[in-house]
Amino acid sequence: MSEWEWLINECEKCQKCKLSQTRTNVVVGEGNINAEIMFVGEAPGADEDATGRPFVGKAGKLLDLALKSLGLNREDCYIANICKCRPENNRVPHDDEAYSCFPFLEKQISMISPKVIVCLGATPLKYLIDKNAQITKIHGQWLTKDTRVFMPTFHPAALLRDETKKLPFWEDLRSVRDKIKTR
Ligand code: URA
Repeated sequence: MSEWEWLINECEKCQKCKLSQTRTNVVVGEGNINAEIMFVGEAPGADEDATGRPFVGKAGKLLDLALKSLGLNREDCYIANICKCRPENNRVPHDDEAYSCFPFLEKQISMISPKVIVCLGATPLKYLIDKNAQITKIHGQWLTKDTRVFMPTFHPAALLRDETKKLPFWEDLRSVRDKIKTR
């Protein structure tokens, strides 16, 4: 069994938190395991829970559009979430849920070793970088932590609620594309 198969298997049988009791599918993550760019969102929503795939609902479509407009696509990336199971009614994951799921994400990050990790919204910013940082203040700034390079930006679902976040989101992603190009 490869390391990836082992990880998928561990996620699928995981019962470390109560989200495991209500999930339909575990959403482990998807994409190019040799990608230079990794996106990390919050947790699966209804569409993701139903399909087992990350960012396939409305927010995912917006992410795809932004990537496409920058000449990137899903094959250039790996996409995962802080939590691999859906919180009921799409609430924000609780600390215990995020912390119990975190070792899976850490393993994914270490196996992929991406050049850039894009944090989509406040939840990945909190758990991957700084629990006190605010996404509205810190988005668009390159940050380094434990040798990993991060770009925090808005969650695509936030753009659906607030149009004024669209341009900054796109600019943050353009910065990501430019960084990858120059490496
Ligand atoms: N929102 C997220 O944060 N992750 C998904 O996979 C889908 C929606």
